[in-house]
Amino acid sequence: MDIFKVAVIPGDGIGPEVIEEGIKVMKKAAELDGRMQFEFTYFPWGCEYYLENGKMMADDGIEQLKSFDAIYLGAVGFPGVPDHISLWDLLLRIRKDFDQYVNIRPITLLNGAPCPLVEENKENIDMLFIRENSEGEYAGAGDWLFKGKPEEVVLQTGVFSRKGTERIIRYAFEEAVRLGKSVTSISKANALNYSMVFWDQVFEEVSKEYPQVKTYSYLVDAAAMHMIKDPKRFEVVVTSNLFGDILTDIGAALAGGMGLAAGANINPEKVYPSMFEPIHGSAPDIAKQGIANPLAAIWSASQMFDFFGYEDIGESLLTAIEKVMEEKTVMTPDLGGNATTSEVGDRIVKQLEEKH
Ligand code: ATP
Ligand code: MG
Repeated sequence: MDIFKVAVIPGDGIGPEVIEEGIKVMKKAAELDGRMQFEFTYFPWGCEYYLENGKMMADDGIEQLKSFDAIYLGAVGFPGVPDHISLWDLLLRIRKDFDQYVNIRPITLLNGAPCPLVEENKENIDMLFIRENSEGEYAGAGDWLFKGKPEEVVLQTGVFSRKGTERIIRYAFEEAVRLGKSVTSISKANALNYSMVFWDQVFEEVSKEYPQVKTYSYLVDAAAMHMIKDPKRFEVVVTSNLFGDILTDIGAALAGGMGLAAGANINPEKVYPSMFEPIHGSAPDIAKQGIANPLAAIWSASQMFDFFGYEDIGESLLTAIEKVMEEKTVMTPDLGGNATTSEVGDRIVKQLEEKH
């Protein structure tokens, strides 16, 4: 029996509510399957912890997380705690310290999920975004010169290392080979005359190692347009930190909204734990009402099963989500229903049991 140790950080707002359903579903899926088991350990970190302790996580938090196979995160953020603190002191710190340089966001429009596009453009929305997650525009490099003076200048520098650029592009090609799909690179070499020229060059070089994979290249502005007008042309997509951040929010809107958008932060070498999370925030406006949609959290749990090599279980979770969307009887208010968070979790569990 495989045993996977998972660190759970429910976080703030709706984080704990959706994570509870995710864990319920993971436990049931593992139990029904019988080949594997989870060992969950909870960490009470986040903004409430910050308000009491002046920090988002324990001083030795990273050390404590190190020995786990994965981290399952709800959401962090709270009115009264500046976003840059909650983000940098927890989420970005974990991503950085554990070298989770791949951000994977599946953008798949399931049957029954709402999509704002006209009917003929909704066909085959099934993209896998591979976003660079460790450097690029979000490297934190820059300068602030002549502060407050008339000649004030602010620099924000994109950092694209050969190692960082090659490894993310290579990861995308490996995924494309595994899935039998094409790879699209999204950049902006006509305007970003250092970083994106380099990105395109590395993409070109790495693509030569994978002659069997069909490749495409788009400028980011054109890609944004095509995602709306003709999304089916994108399969595996690889792009930089900033572009990936923006385009995956477009993707979330295409594939059912924030309540359905999942993400994984992967350290492919498995030297450190990878982290799985619904990509939505803590949503204080609907917290503690029991109406948050848990499907994004459940979808990210499905990604965790994939990561552990149990793709068949991951797939069964997705099938269950799709079934619930098609039925339309048990859905949270964001999807037009009136079910509670736990009713949706229970319905997914029931679906897994029925299918088993
Ligand atoms: P952050 O600042 O971390 O992005 P946020 O509060 O802005 O947090 P978002 O994830 O950006 O949260 O979500 C914006 C809005 O979308 C929320 O305020 C909420 O109304 C809605 N929303 C987000 N996630 C869910 C969910 N799981 N279920 C239902 N509604 C959601
Ligand atoms: Mg937000």
